[in-house]
Amino acid sequence: MTLTELMETLPYGPAPEAAQPALDWLKAHQGKFGLFIGGKWRDPASQEWFATLNPANAQKLAEVAQASAVDVDEAVKAARKAFIGWSQTPGHVRARYLYAMARQVQKHARLFAVLETLDNGKPIRETRDIDIPLVARHFYYHAGWAQLMESELAGYAPLGVVGQIIPWNFPLLMLSWKIAPALAMGNTVVLKPAEFTPLTALLFAEICQSIGLPPGVVNILTGDGKTGAALVEHPGVDKIAFTGSTEVGRLIRKATAGSGKKLSLELGGKSPFLVFEDADLDSAVEGVVDAIWFNQGQVCCAGSRLLVQEGIAERMYTKLRARMEKLRVGNPLDKAVDIGAIVAPVQLQKIQQLVQKGVEEGARLWQPSWAVPSEGCFYPPTLFTEVAPASTIAQEEIFGPVLAALTFRTPEEAVRLANNTRYGLAASIWSEDINLALDIATQIKAGTIWINSTNLFDAASGFGGYRESGFGREGGKEGLWEYVKKAESPHPKAQSRKTRAPSRAAKETPSLQPATFSFQPPIDRTAKLFIGGRQARPDSGYSKAVYAPDGQLLGEVGLGNRKDIRNAVEAARAAFEAWRKASAHNRAQILYFLAENLSERAEEFGHRIHAQTGQDGHAEVEAALEALFTAAAWADKYEGVVHPTPIRNVTLAIPEPIGVMGILCPDDQPLLALARLAGTALALGNTLVVVPSPLAPLVATDFYQVLETSDIPAGTFNIVTGERDELAKTLAEHDDVDAVWYAGPQAGHALVERASAGNMKRTWMLLPSGPLPNTDEILRQATQVKNIWVPYGA
Ligand code: NDP
Repeated sequence: MTLTELMETLPYGPAPEAAQPALDWLKAHQGKFGLFIGGKWRDPASQEWFATLNPANAQKLAEVAQASAVDVDEAVKAARKAFIGWSQTPGHVRARYLYAMARQVQKHARLFAVLETLDNGKPIRETRDIDIPLVARHFYYHAGWAQLMESELAGYAPLGVVGQIIPWNFPLLMLSWKIAPALAMGNTVVLKPAEFTPLTALLFAEICQSIGLPPGVVNILTGDGKTGAALVEHPGVDKIAFTGSTEVGRLIRKATAGSGKKLSLELGGKSPFLVFEDADLDSAVEGVVDAIWFNQGQVCCAGSRLLVQEGIAERMYTKLRARMEKLRVGNPLDKAVDIGAIVAPVQLQKIQQLVQKGVEEGARLWQPSWAVPSEGCFYPPTLFTEVAPASTIAQEEIFGPVLAALTFRTPEEAVRLANNTRYGLAASIWSEDINLALDIATQIKAGTIWINSTNLFDAASGFGGYRESGFGREGGKEGLWEYVKKAESPHPKAQSRKTRAPSRAAKETPSLQPATFSFQPPIDRTAKLFIGGRQARPDSGYSKAVYAPDGQLLGEVGLGNRKDIRNAVEAARAAFEAWRKASAHNRAQILYFLAENLSERAEEFGHRIHAQTGQDGHAEVEAALEALFTAAAWADKYEGVVHPTPIRNVTLAIPEPIGVMGILCPDDQPLLALARLAGTALALGNTLVVVPSPLAPLVATDFYQVLETSDIPAGTFNIVTGERDELAKTLAEHDDVDAVWYAGPQAGHALVERASAGNMKRTWMLLPSGPLPNTDEILRQATQVKNIWVPYGA
């Protein structure tokens, strides 16, 4: 054999990583683990254990405890007790603990990597080179935020006890994504790892002990879905952070509805991988390998839908098949293996069934010529072509090494296909034309976009979904907001005239003397709804009387129903794209104009407010004008950031509007609430369906006359009066509404949060009276952050 021939045929020899250190660690524990509660190991109350297996050979690795509701209660109590001290611990000291965790993870990196590979089946190359280094990075990065919290998140406080539930696909990495920010912000945690992959979390618990972390700051409970459910339901938990399937995410949304628990959900995906005809095809093929065969495709943001431009589709498929033929599936501990084992037989069956479905639905299946090992849970890399956009394999998350390929002709069609999913976690765009790539990036509804790259993660960059992929971000500064709340401090006297400098508009407002007002609202006028830029009669044909606090009849408003809400949502959706794309400068101008027109009618509004609430209407109009000015000011100043992720790359974190929002206004300060909540949401590019307070709706119905004269595009701002909870439910259930802000009684919180689980829309619960939230909170609630990774280098 010549040297050239040898080089061309070089066969791979086995290059296994030694499993012994991990097996020794298991043996040192007699292959049996308890629960880690309050800094100590203890047996589960039920005395039940279950086995965790190596999916590559079906051998038992260890027995782990099955935590029940009793253990959950103990762990939550331990975390609550620890919270008192931990939340008072200076940021610098918390930073040192997080730093110690990072160092310990690095020190034991090899043991962690091998243990993870044994328990999960993923290739050692991935645990060693990706998962574990990223885990250390997360602890380092968040040590920094613990250090900086006092100055950079001034006025914010930890939430308390956080329940965290993680999946099996990145066991230790998901643990670090959850625990690092929670501890950095001064919370304590109870974490439940997935049933299939508990071992690295248990090793991590030992690290917590070894660094002297105060008992109860981190508690680890192994168990199954029932353990997770008990944690979700425990009344002593202040927040639930969950990563896993959309199905369980939806259950958790319903279970926490109305409980006041903060919630972040990182759920499934069906992420598009778009290849334009000017892309570097060889790089794109390598990208696909990373997108769908990394971690056996068991990745929430896997690029599982290949969208390729028609002219290059066949060339791309040919290259891809050639590359697939050379992928190696087998022993995950072998350093030369590309694809390891599927996590468990049940997951393998799910993949097989969905592949079968793909064949039945007419897509063309291709798999390499070689066979996967017959022992253990293995599945070959699989390519489907000629996939119909509506077919099961183009819509369902397969969570396996299966790629579904579709073609497109134009960029517009590419965007339409990319967004043709209920998910919105990530997308990957391949084109040498950066103009095109960035233009497409802004149009895809997903939390992370990678340009000419894929599956890049870093602690400095936020990660999370749009739509049914969940809400909340993990990583970056944006991820910290999930673990803090406003520190309790006396609310600034926002409505007190004496403490405020009058705004320019207010200075021009004639002085009002509420005590001597002479304006009497006519009682014969029934205010209509305001939908699509026009006044509309309510579908029901009924109206509702509005009374003053002293019982005097003030007027009537239309009694809106589901149909009116649907019409309003349709109008808001139709207006959204244009409003979103309007320049921020333009939106600001319109809001200033709105304020100007409101100030023209300040006296009338002042009287109207006084008549409905008995409060000082003048002060409220003044405050509302200022709120509109503030909203206008932020329209072109609410900036993103560039995250310093550690490759040659700019990661643009851009706040984007959420979409169509339903806002159910509070009863107090009806005009100010409208200006501050709706004004801010509007300024940032959302379109709105506003339901005014049932106690003081006339302010809002007068307001549409101001809207009509203020260049607000039709459909951007819709107003539907009626029964708050009835309309709230319709809005929360509506699949074309992206977020609902509900200011109303507690019973309504549960109603709205539960109803929102349909499309996993974002919700924000406020009280019907009391201080309004501050602008910074409203700005965050009105946007979602998209991270766009743009690597560079010649
Ligand atoms: P799950 O969503 O069921 O599991 C995620 C975590 O939630 C696990 O710790 C699980 O415990 C726990 N859990 C299960 N039921 C409940 C409940 N009712 N309340 C609270 N916690 C609960 O995912 P699976 O592991 O069952 O995988 C099923 C499918 O989900 C996969 O085929 C894949 O499509 C998708 N998936 C998506 C992930 C993502 O990151 N997007 C990650 C994992 C799975 P336990 O492990 O004991 O069941």
